[in-house]
Formats: sequence, structure tokens, C-alpha cells
Amino acid sequence: MRTIAVINQKGGVGKTTTCVNLAAGLARAGRRVCLIDLDPQGHASMHLGVETAGGADSVYQVFSGARTFDDVRQLAADNLWVAPSDLDLAATELELVDAPGREYVLRKALEQSQAASSFDYVLMDCPPSLGVLTINALCLAREVFIPLQPHFFALQGLSKLMETAAVVTRRLNRDLRITGIVLCLYETGTRLASDVTDDLQRFLSASDPQAPWSGAQVFSTKVRRNIKLAEAPSFGQSIFAYAPGSPGAQDYGSLVLEVLAAERAQRAAAA
Ligand code: ADP
Ligand code: MG
Repeated sequence: MRTIAVINQKGGVGKTTTCVNLAAGLARAGRRVCLIDLDPQGHASMHLGVETAGGADSVYQVFSGARTFDDVRQLAADNLWVAPSDLDLAATELELVDAPGREYVLRKALEQSQAASSFDYVLMDCPPSLGVLTINALCLAREVFIPLQPHFFALQGLSKLMETAAVVTRRLNRDLRITGIVLCLYETGTRLASDVTDDLQRFLSASDPQAPWSGAQVFSTKVRRNIKLAEAPSFGQSIFAYAPGSPGAQDYGSLVLEVLAAERAQRAAAA
């Protein structure tokens, strides 16, 4: 099972869009996927047509201990489960402040889940902050994907994010590695976008080989700005269902292939 947290402390960089469409694409490729929505805004849940408005439970109940992980996950499509979130989850940041072991609540919940062992992928969509919800994702994950919008300040934010991941790796989860950087909302043909891409490659290759981000891959897929990607959430559909012929579906389709290729590489390395 691959456990991947999609993080960036900035909002609007493409975390949810990437998490949802990657999850949907992997499920279409036959992998059993569970998306855990850890953002109280619940955008990933809504994007996949999963709502908690009718009184369904959310990951909030998992954090509060009222429900198990298996109680709250819902089937969203073939091979694709969602553990939904809603605004209740905003309270978790406060409720867990002094709780012992607060960083590992989600990890424990997954360890106790019957279903979890059948997933090939667990993807976590994180809120735009580095609070306790994101830390829970980082304590469960072995991999981190960082969506980045290529602009001038992106790299500054990235080093902060990587330091946080390094602290988590040292103190809380030795298995954690930043494995992928996804360029989102990419403006093809602009100088800035290609400059940022080059800077990013240079930064990664100059990094300490012991750092948790050494060996991170900047995916060759660059997700172009495409209006269909912005429209799909309001229809409760992934890009593959909503606009299968769109550039957005092409880009996330090729990202899925790169993620699957990494799976083969990992298996080969382990053998
Ligand atoms: P985050 O989760 O990091 O806040 P989102 O994935 O929600 O970011 O994206 C922010 C907004 O940009 C959303 O309205 C989303 O639909 C839109 N969006 C994301 N990626 C693209 C893209 N490649 N092209 C066009 N719109 C996009
Ligand atoms: Mg989001």
C-alpha cells in the first residue's frame, strides 16, 4: 500500500484538484484507492460527489473517537472510497491540542481498519496549513506529493514546507519521504514557468542526500491551466468523468501513469 499526503501550506495551488483526479485516475487503472479528506472545507469530498449533509459521518468522528475509519468511508466510484470531511473537522485542531499521541490518531485508525489492508493507495488531501490535521497525514504517510504553482514565491514556500517535513521525519515518522512535486496551473510557454522549473531541479539536485526530499521527483507532467478542471467539482465528478477529452484529463492521465511507473520502480527496488 502506498500512503501519500498531498500538502502545501498555501491555498489555491492545486492540492485538492490533484488529489481527487489522481485518486480517480488510479482507481480507473484498477487500483483500490481511498481518499481521506482532511480539509474542513470538504472540497475533495464534494468534488467526488460525497456529501455529509444528510447526517453521514465524517473523519471528524474518527478523530473524536466516535466512529471507526470503516464506519465513515463511502464508496464514490468503482475502486474508489472517500473518507469525507466537513466543517466539523475544523474543531479537531482545537480538540486535539493537548491530547497525548495526537499526531498518530489517523494512523491508529487506519491500523485498526479492516478495509485498509485492501487498499493499494491512500491519498490524503490536506488543509492549507501545517496544523495537527496535516501532521496526522504526515505521520500516516510514507510519501508526500507537493503541488506547486510555478511563480516567483513558490520556492520560498517550498523550503519552509520541506523543513517541516524534515522535522516530522526526525521526530515522528522516520519513513516519510517527499517523493513528488507536481507543477499545477501551469502556463505553457511562459518564461517564468520554465525558470521556476529549472530552479526547482537545481535546488533538488544540490540538496543533502540525507534530506527527506533528496530523490524527490519533479513529475514531467505539468498540469496546464484548464477551465474544465475548475468546472468539474461543481458536477461532483472527476475530470475523467466530466471532460475525458480535455487537456485537464490528458494531464492528470499522464500524471497517473508516472505515479504507476514509480510503483513499479519501488517494487523492483524492494525485490
Ligand atoms: P488547493 O486545494 O491547493 O486549495 P485547488 O485544487 O482547490 O487548490 O485549486 C484551486 C482552484 O483552482 C479551484 O477552483 C480549482 O478548481 C482550480 N484549479 C486547480 N487546478 C486547475 C487547473 N490546472 N486549471 C484550472 N483551474 C484549476
Ligand atoms: Mg484544497
